[in-house]
Amino acid sequence: MIFVLDTGFFLYGLDPSGMYGECVISPEVKNEVLNGFPARKLEYYLESGVIHIISPDEKSLKKVRGRALLTGDSRRLSETDMSVIALALELNGKIVTDDYSIQNVARRLGIDYLPLKEKGIKDVWKWTYRCTGCGRFFEEYHEVCPICGSSLKTVPRAGTKNLHGR
Ligand SMILES: [Zn+2]
Repeated sequence: MIFVLDTGFFLYGLDPSGMYGECVISPEVKNEVLNGFPARKLEYYLESGVIHIISPDEKSLKKVRGRALLTGDSRRLSETDMSVIALALELNGKIVTDDYSIQNVARRLGIDYLPLKEKGIKDVWKWTYRCTGCGRFFEEYHEVCPICGSSLKTVPRAGTKNLHGR
């Protein structure tokens, strides 16, 4: 499975190395993740090969723009959004996004997507984070536990099928 990640993925601080499959982003998404902690983490994921940058070709971009015009989503979609959809179309990937306009156009083009905040993404996640202090579990990465301030460690998700498979 190829996952095409949108900018929101990084702003939420999600960790792509926990996903079952290849993760790719468009250059436009990288350009949107400019500052601070999310940008440093993205650099790390790119350097370590967890994420690859791929440019969608002009043909798939054209197809996405055409479809967005038909659905009335074209004014709500940025160039970055278009690049995310086009990349998924081209690679037969699944888009990871909470953006309703992206989801709408993706649906019309027969592209699968996973919401970030709803339970969708949890089915493809093999890791979770556990506080070394209070023992709470978190779906999202935090530098320290938001409850007690202790450090978090990555642990396998309980009950995940196919835990070691790829
Ligand atoms: Zn804690």
